[in-house]
Amino acid sequence: MNLILFGPPGAGKGTQAARLVARHGLAHVSTGDMLRAAVAAGSELGRRVGEIMDRGELVPDELILALVRERLQQPDCARGFVLDGFPRTRAQAEALDRLLAELGRALDAVIALDVPDEVLISRIETRIRETGGARSDDNAETLRRRLEVYHAQTAPLLDYYRDRGLLYVIDGTRSIDEVTRAIEEVLGRIGKETG
Ligand code: ADP
Repeated sequence: MNLILFGPPGAGKGTQAARLVARHGLAHVSTGDMLRAAVAAGSELGRRVGEIMDRGELVPDELILALVRERLQQPDCARGFVLDGFPRTRAQAEALDRLLAELGRALDAVIALDVPDEVLISRIETRIRETGGARSDDNAETLRRRLEVYHAQTAPLLDYYRDRGLLYVIDGTRSIDEVTRAIEEVLGRIGKETG
């Protein structure tokens, strides 16, 4: 089972992805995590990527695509994967389609967590308070920019996947467990329950 977990920053993609991994044995492919690892490694590339992330801008498509291409070919992705934070642009979505065709794989569903901006803003404010701003892109100004970028470049992908019959939208304002249940319900409906 190959899924995209889609939604704005702070929608809860990471939390739900972790549950999908635990329950269905999927590989978690988080481009944000991969980029943070590159930043932590302290290379020149990592430094440039870190500056882009701190501004709330998108890292260039070619770099993301190189990371995802390599990641999807790792053995743990063979049983299925959940993409988290990718694709974020039309070019990334089209490149993903080409990559999957090349690998002989296909997407089973795109699960979108729907959360209004005002809820996202208050969630991230809580996360900043609780973690003391552990993530350097967790601040009010960067969040505002991340939301703008999401609406301008990423949200249009909802139509891209709706047109392909892959889109399932879930109310992401409900509790973590309720959102998990709604996701499992979608997976049951598409007949990809792996237990
Ligand atoms: P969130 O979902 O909270 O916005 P992520 O961890 O997914 O956080 O991403 C953090 C940052 O990493 C983004 O703001 C962006 O700068 C960069 N990034 C992550 N994934 C991508 C991607 N697919 N394309 C471009 N930039 C990305």
